[in-house]
Amino acid sequence: MVLYKIQNGIIGHAIGDALGVPVEFKSRKSLNANPVTNMIGFGTYPVPAGTWSDDTSLEIALMESICENKTIDYVDIMEKFSSWYYEDFYTATGKRFDVGGTCANAIGNFRIGTAPLACGLTNIRSNGNGSLMRILPIAYICYEHRLSYTDTYRIVKDVSSLTHRHEISILGCYIYVQFVKSLLMGMDSRKAYENIKTIDYSMFSRDSLEEYSRILDDNIDLFNINQISSTSYVVSTLEAALWCVLNNSNYRNTVLTAVNLGSDTDTIGAVAGSIAGIEYGISGIPKEWRDGLKAKQYLLRICGDFADALPIIRL
Ligand SMILES: [Mg+2]
Repeated sequence: MVLYKIQNGIIGHAIGDALGVPVEFKSRKSLNANPVTNMIGFGTYPVPAGTWSDDTSLEIALMESICENKTIDYVDIMEKFSSWYYEDFYTATGKRFDVGGTCANAIGNFRIGTAPLACGLTNIRSNGNGSLMRILPIAYICYEHRLSYTDTYRIVKDVSSLTHRHEISILGCYIYVQFVKSLLMGMDSRKAYENIKTIDYSMFSRDSLEEYSRILDDNIDLFNINQISSTSYVVSTLEAALWCVLNNSNYRNTVLTAVNLGSDTDTIGAVAGSIAGIEYGISGIPKEWRDGLKAKQYLLRICGDFADALPIIRL
């Protein structure tokens, strides 16, 4: 894997996350009146401009674990998630300031001795976007190692299940990973979207597939903005991110559209930003945003380590 492809996705993700953090939970109506146009600080949380959140923290904790172990070690990943949660590791400014309920529960399950792959919640209501927002590194692995649909499914299922074990969450991660893999193969987002409609989903139940029918059977980009929810439900987050990606043609407009949908702004910004980062490249991200990103050198160091580890990972 060429290093720049990793940087494009990870930095694109972190900047989308950071743009959304100050307005997380704000309504679409209030953002319509006062939209985000640049990197700002001290909104929803008392953190400076450029601060990324749990989405990026959990993603880089996963990358650090893979770099250290040269494999996907589920115990170690949960230990690193715990270090983030309890000790503020893998944060932009040395302080954790947010967490999703399902992730917190899963980390709590690990703390009391639950096996890592049994930590994630399986309730239908435990289908927030908390595993989707950190699954990007797995897409690089699946691409680099040319994994089959079956092997991709197995790894995505296990990595999601650390926190989100319901099939709807796993399917959301699987669709996203296949989309990113298509981009890494050289497709643009339009072709990648057509591609993910044609691949093998036979490992998933009809009920779960039905949840994603607006993505897989319709054209999600053709829906009206009023039909696009931007909540933290994993299906809504993936729909919103793809809607933003397919209806814009550069990084800036993609992530600003994502963030200004309101509600779960940081995660929709992060998911859309990762895709736009890969599609348009890091040089397509406004310089003032790249310069304003907190702990940028730290993120770039992890990208370098991950690029080195990627070809020699044992799966
Ligand atoms: Mg967040």
